[in-house]
Amino acid sequence: MTRLPAALPAGKMPGMTLALPLIPDTAAVSRRAILDVPADDLKAWLADRRQPPMRAKQVRRQLLAARATAFADMTDLPKGLRDDLTEHFTPFGSTVVQHLKSGDDTHKLLVRLADGKLIECVLIQNDARATACVSTQVGCGMGCVFCASGLNGVARNLTAGEIVEQLILLRNLTDPNTTREDRAPRLTHIVVMGMGEPLANLENLLDALAVAGDKDGLGIGQRHVTISTVGLPAKIRKLADADKQYHLAVSLHAPNDELRNRIVPTNVQTGIPDILAAADYYFETTGRQVTYEYVVLGKVNDQPEHAHELVDLLRRRKAFVNLIPWNDVAGLTYRRPTDDDLRGFIDTLRDGGVSVQVRRRKGADIDAACGQLRREAEEKPKNSED
Ligand code: SF4
Repeated sequence: MTRLPAALPAGKMPGMTLALPLIPDTAAVSRRAILDVPADDLKAWLADRRQPPMRAKQVRRQLLAARATAFADMTDLPKGLRDDLTEHFTPFGSTVVQHLKSGDDTHKLLVRLADGKLIECVLIQNDARATACVSTQVGCGMGCVFCASGLNGVARNLTAGEIVEQLILLRNLTDPNTTREDRAPRLTHIVVMGMGEPLANLENLLDALAVAGDKDGLGIGQRHVTISTVGLPAKIRKLADADKQYHLAVSLHAPNDELRNRIVPTNVQTGIPDILAAADYYFETTGRQVTYEYVVLGKVNDQPEHAHELVDLLRRRKAFVNLIPWNDVAGLTYRRPTDDDLRGFIDTLRDGGVSVQVRRRKGADIDAACGQLRREAEEKPKNSED
């Protein structure tokens, strides 16, 4: 899918790096992260200690709603249970290893998972919204030619707990006591546009979003969640049948199969007609308008004929197009579109009756294009050996 951070220029002016240990319990990697313990297992563990099942809910509420970062802080639990939890579990399996903050209050985190793998997530704050952009896989197997996340393939799916932990990490960056009108005191929106193809990890994602939506959790309603996909038709239909109200964004990036096969290699297996048919099914089933993401690559997919083809594809659909002008990624040779080409593209879409907007830039002064931070961190040891 198209990661939201792709909309963020890979600015070379470094953002402020904060080495904040947002989650202090880093020595606990051998213990299991409690958000990945199935509810029934946790209840059984509690029953062994003569504790009622509602304690499981209390623990979860403490982490998700009360911003606790250690079992010792959960003062609504008996002291003995807090000690027991500390001995057997860790509140989080993830650790923040790098924290970049931009001048516009966009935060980017490089996160180390319990097995040492690295992922990224981003907090974007504007218009009293606080939006978390989260990853669903370590790396990505889709291989889109313009994306740093997919350069080394996919290592594994994230667990539901690892997805929820990203949300908590980002939520903990919001200021619960803010009095600024343009700042939300908590997370308000989620975009699943980070590293990985969300629909390739659909079950864990749905479990994580259920936790996020719980009123005792983060309380983020389904209509405030956007799931972005490269376009896996069978999974789009499955998501539609899940009877949820999530917003679907399909990363199209090209108006014909010949061009899309070159930009998005998985298109060879799917093809645009099947993706659009699945997206139509999503709209018919959920009633939610589908957004089509389109990374605009200078002189590749931004010419007048491409705009006209896109109009032909979308004008009879209740669709919305999000244009994302390309930003440079180290090691990739694509160019940003010229202002004239971009303007012409927009005008053609509008004249053809297709709703379109250009995605606003956030985090311009941090290296916020998805996958770059992780790639740099992973390559550092190699480079230092050279
Ligand atoms: S390679 Fe994966 S993460 Fe990157 S744009 Fe494609 S689907 Fe998204």
